[in-house]
Amino acid sequence: LYDDFYIKSLITTIEDWPKEGISFRDITPIFSDPKGMRMVVDAYVHRYIASDITHIACIDARGFLIAAVLAYELQKPLILIRKKGKLPGKTISQRYALEYGEAELEIQEGAVAEGDNILLFDDLIATGGTLFAAISLLTSQGASIKEVAAIIDLPDLQGSQKIRDAEIPVFSLCAFD
Ligand code: 5GP
Repeated sequence: LYDDFYIKSLITTIEDWPKEGISFRDITPIFSDPKGMRMVVDAYVHRYIASDITHIACIDARGFLIAAVLAYELQKPLILIRKKGKLPGKTISQRYALEYGEAELEIQEGAVAEGDNILLFDDLIATGGTLFAAISLLTSQGASIKEVAAIIDLPDLQGSQKIRDAEIPVFSLCAFD
């Protein structure tokens, strides 16, 4: 249905970025390849078209790019989970640990409600710290996470396993060691 070999061929690896020792998986070439962009979006459309999700939530900033198209196709409301200080008005925030230091994600007050069944999207799952912060934010407002979706999973870092251990299904289009 989708060619994960083709999708992987569009993901480049930038060594020692953003710092030494990190192999950064760059998804930018997907956006400049219309066939790849369609393949990625269509894979999620196919998976979720008949599901009972009511909302799509996505994480600042690369997550926005695919999730916005998916929300348009599935005709679902899109919830933006942003880095601290970007969303106007009253917000609810969640801190989380990074490898060095910490960060904070926010949603606008009233963005989600009890009974919402959410598909949560980000581009890549590494340790899962970012997604867990997003999950806390959404579930603190009474929403349920139906599934976490990503383009790339890095299974060696065990984030996707931790999310599955929390009884949230995880769907990714490809994985890198
Ligand atoms: P985690 O919180 O799971 O350790 O890291 C995942 C988050 O960091 C995601 O929001 C993702 O955008 C970003 N990230 C970490 N490493 C990479 C990478 O190699 N490539 C991309 N595209 N994003 C990354």
